[in-house]
Amino acid sequence: MRKGLTFNIAGVLGPRAGAWFGAQRISDLWPQGVVSFTFDDFPKSAFAVGGDILERHGARGTYYTALKLAGIENDLGRSFDESDVLAAHQKGHEIACHTHTHINCAQSSLSTIKQEIRANAQDFSGLVAGATLENFAYPYGAVSPRAKQSLKWRFQSCRGIRPGVNKDVPALAELLANRIYAQEFDGEKISDLIAQNKAEKSWLIFYTHDVTDDPSPYGCTPGQFETVVSEATKSSPIRLVRDVIASLRGMGN
Ligand SMILES: [Zn+2]
Repeated sequence: MRKGLTFNIAGVLGPRAGAWFGAQRISDLWPQGVVSFTFDDFPKSAFAVGGDILERHGARGTYYTALKLAGIENDLGRSFDESDVLAAHQKGHEIACHTHTHINCAQSSLSTIKQEIRANAQDFSGLVAGATLENFAYPYGAVSPRAKQSLKWRFQSCRGIRPGVNKDVPALAELLANRIYAQEFDGEKISDLIAQNKAEKSWLIFYTHDVTDDPSPYGCTPGQFETVVSEATKSSPIRLVRDVIASLRGMGN
């Protein structure tokens, strides 16, 4: 099989996270660095509040969604409804994959992972005709060499929860990401990270869950989220994960 081309799980030919994608580097494309905001699990507040904050700053976010969780109530508050997925998509946010039922990929068989990915894709294309889920985040940040090896051939990128900035040629099978959690929120530390990303001309990815006045241990307050978005927009362009990948592949704007 030729280098750079492979069949993914779905049997579709195309560049994936596992394939070298050319000479475009983050530092060439974004001399000020680039920042992405992502949400896992898609609590309603992530879109209603977090999405609104991003939109007011002219930015959009990437929502890693396990579509089976629609309408449920859990420790993150109320989950998205299908109408939220549609509205987020229509407003230019990215809907991305987080398995169908939020499984731990490190503890699941490849056939289970494959079935989960397929079920989530089917649900999404049922909501938005013709739309696909191009990027993935590991639920719980749980990765294993086997899961990475499999998923990197299915998605354009897979995001984990290990912190740090993604350098010139990022590890697309496990993108680094930094959490915005209320209980440990440190504005100075976040400013330093944004400044570091700009200086290193790299790709900084944030993630959180709910955005409410009384957040879960995995979310943050609207004020905290606003602080990070505002600070980031002063330093670097904000882009969807999908758009960063497209640019790296020479297919973006
Ligand atoms: Zn999750």
